[in-house]
Amino acid sequence: MFDFVIIGGGIIGLLTAKELQKTGAYIAVIEKSSPGQQATWAAGGILSPMRPWHYSEAVNAISSISQPIYQQLSEELHTQTGIDPEWLPSGMLVLNDDDMTRAIDWCQQHKAPNKLLSSEQLNKQFAHLKSFDEPALLRDDVATIRPHKLLAALSLYLEDNGVSFFNGQGAKTLHTQPNQITGVDLDGRTIKAKEYIVCAGAWSSKLIPKDSQKPDITPVKGQMICFPPIDIPNHCMVMDGNRYIIPRKDGRIVVGSTREHTGFDASTTQQAFNELRDFSQQLYPALSNIEPDAHWAGLRPSSPDSIPYICRVDGYNNLSLNAGHYRNGIVTAPASAQLMADIVLANPTRIDPTPYQLTR
Ligand SMILES: Cc1cc2nc3c(=O)[nH]c(=O)nc-3n(C[C@H](O)[C@H](O)[C@H](O)COP(=O)(O)OP(=O)(O)OC[C@H]3O[C@@H](n4cnc5c(N)ncnc54)[C@H](O)[C@@H]3O)c2cc1C
Repeated sequence: MFDFVIIGGGIIGLLTAKELQKTGAYIAVIEKSSPGQQATWAAGGILSPMRPWHYSEAVNAISSISQPIYQQLSEELHTQTGIDPEWLPSGMLVLNDDDMTRAIDWCQQHKAPNKLLSSEQLNKQFAHLKSFDEPALLRDDVATIRPHKLLAALSLYLEDNGVSFFNGQGAKTLHTQPNQITGVDLDGRTIKAKEYIVCAGAWSSKLIPKDSQKPDITPVKGQMICFPPIDIPNHCMVMDGNRYIIPRKDGRIVVGSTREHTGFDASTTQQAFNELRDFSQQLYPALSNIEPDAHWAGLRPSSPDSIPYICRVDGYNNLSLNAGHYRNGIVTAPASAQLMADIVLANPTRIDPTPYQLTR
């Protein structure tokens, strides 16, 4: 029997496994495909909410704890596995914010390094972009990571440290007795543990027993495109409305993203491809004669207030949930995993757990 079974091998499931593995626990991760192939694979890897001044304190709290953890985590995984998750202190340029005063106030209140660039400064410092007439906000403390490399490194690290993976096997049902989960059914076998943690992203609600309060988690599709490598004068991310470009270490330029309510359909569309390509070519003229060479989509696990559920599930003394991170699941994952581990280990929690409960 395992100490913990974690259902779902995205960033949330794997970092939760890493936190618990530190205690010497015997852990299994059940993943219906391969680790990190769903929302986590699709993500841009921006290590900040896009506009933290538009998010609740509950989201910003777990984001601000997580951000400084990433550099060290990336170095640790690189050293231990040889796979570089490419943590990059790129900075973020915020254009056309409809609420620049609020943005600057937020940065000052939270002591987040920032500069307001006049259009002259902007056009000089970012001469590779189109010309601007408006000022813009430069956030110096924002970094990026490459999610698929992070997940490849994390999976290898966990395997090397004794975590068991059941890949290609979706959890079908949870066996229940009054107040208790007694096992989880895969195809033709049952896995048993003392504790069960659902980290199944957009699919999490399907796994919670009918007689408990279900989390309100729905899929929201996001499409992205990527350009082949070019010479990049400056690795700073650029945010313009709901669209952004992320320069990678190797010169690739990732462009995102859409927000679509299409259920569990994660297919890509020509319309989104054209919109993202046109946006990036207009913003970054050097991309004009290049065609994107990749296009993908992922399903964000959305909750009504964008705050994840990190809590025990009512009615069961050994079932927990860590899901619903919507647009911020990469940047908030380390603190979400710490909070989940503190709850299931009955340790004092490092932050107030109330905002992350199902009954909030
Ligand atoms: C286009 C896009 C861009 C994004 N950009 C960013 C960004 O820049 N920064 C940021 O912080 N966040 C970003 N996000 C959000 C982020 O990707 C998600 O919040 C995060 O990946 C959620 O992680 P997760 O582990 O909960 O979900 P997932 O990565 O979806 O993992 C859930 C896993 O559970 C598995 N699963 C489901 N059902 C079962 C079952 N029955 N049995 C076993 N396994 C199961 C799935 O196969 C999957 O691997 C972006 C998302 C998208 C789509």
